[in-house]
Amino acid sequence: MKQSTIVLLDVQDERKRQDAKWGEQNHEPQFWTGILGEEFGELCQAVNETVFNNGPAERAKGGYANMRTEAIQVAAVAVAFVEMLDRRHGGKVL
Ligand SMILES: [Mg+2]
Repeated sequence: MKQSTIVLLDVQDERKRQDAKWGEQNHEPQFWTGILGEEFGELCQAVNETVFNNGPAERAKGGYANMRTEAIQVAAVAVAFVEMLDRRHGGKVL
C-alpha cells in the first residue's frame, strides 16, 4: 500500500473517531478556525518538544508518534471543515 494511502486512511480513521466523540459538527467558519488553531498549536507543541530539550516530562510530548498523531488530527479537522462547507453549500458528492 502506498504511504500516502496509509496516511489518508489514518485521517479517515481520525474523522470517524471525531464523529463518534462529537457527532456531526456544523460550526460557523470562525469556530472551525479556532478548533484548527488549537490542533495546530498541539502540533507545534509536539514539534517543539521534539527539537528543544525542556526536560524528560516535556520531551515525552514530542517525537515521531506525537508529531504524526497531531498532524493527522490537523488534517482530520481540516477535512471536517470542508465537509461542513460542502453540506452548507452543496459540494460535490461522489
Ligand atoms: Mg491534537
